[in-house]
Amino acid sequence: MSRSRSGGGTRAADMSAVSMLRPGAGNPATRPELTPQLESAVRHRIDAALQALRAAKAEFPSIAFANSFGAEDMVLTDLIHAHGLGIDMFSLDTGRLPPETYTLMADVEARYSTRLAVFFPDAAAVESYVREHGVNAFYGSVDLRKACCRVRKVEPLRRALAGRAAWITGLRAAQSATRTELAPREYDAAFGIEKFNPLADWSEAEVWAYIRIHNVPYNALHDQFYPSIGCAPCTRAIAVGEDIRAGRWWWEDASLKECGLHVKTS
Ligand code: SF4
Repeated sequence: MSRSRSGGGTRAADMSAVSMLRPGAGNPATRPELTPQLESAVRHRIDAALQALRAAKAEFPSIAFANSFGAEDMVLTDLIHAHGLGIDMFSLDTGRLPPETYTLMADVEARYSTRLAVFFPDAAAVESYVREHGVNAFYGSVDLRKACCRVRKVEPLRRALAGRAAWITGLRAAQSATRTELAPREYDAAFGIEKFNPLADWSEAEVWAYIRIHNVPYNALHDQFYPSIGCAPCTRAIAVGEDIRAGRWWWEDASLKECGLHVKTS
């Protein structure tokens, strides 16, 4: 295992590594300027996303949006609230999130006058995992990392989705090698329900254009070379030219980088 801690071990280390990195997808300076063409493209994307969300809600009244507070999820959060779509929203708190994510969670509550529905891991399961394997055992092997994700993410997600017939995510096809064939709608065999990805075809430029046009709050780490943000110990900044998911579980092979929330089953 080659687990370089540079840019990923501690917040201080992250910040010192950032200063050595060149601009990448997480750098606001490299985000494209708003042009009439880009704004027009975003308007079309919004129309299509709203249509998809309304149709999904009509077909599955119990549908819920799983908000992990990434840039894409902030677009969906804004669409759902700004257009009064009446779609339930929930989030997972793994207990290992970076402080910037909690700041954003509070910002969301203030901006949209809402109280977040947050699901936590089962305390006994976390205690058991840590006692048996250690507090940062996820660095030890892919199996231990996946076991941690199961305890801290997958099981709470299963509880959050219980009784629901469908769910919504902010996944995009261009996000990683594991998502290139992402469909706007698919059957999620892992949870036995329908799954909607209304931003599947959006580009990163369109996501950031939406955020800028609508002044949507977003995670401060996105301005520090973190295009994709998960748990603090498993997320680092990226360098120019790196895949936008390169900072997630950076010590693992790219083909293995999913946490079990989004498993391709067909
Ligand atoms: S991302 Fe890391 S800390 Fe978070 S649940 Fe997965 S292995 Fe555990």
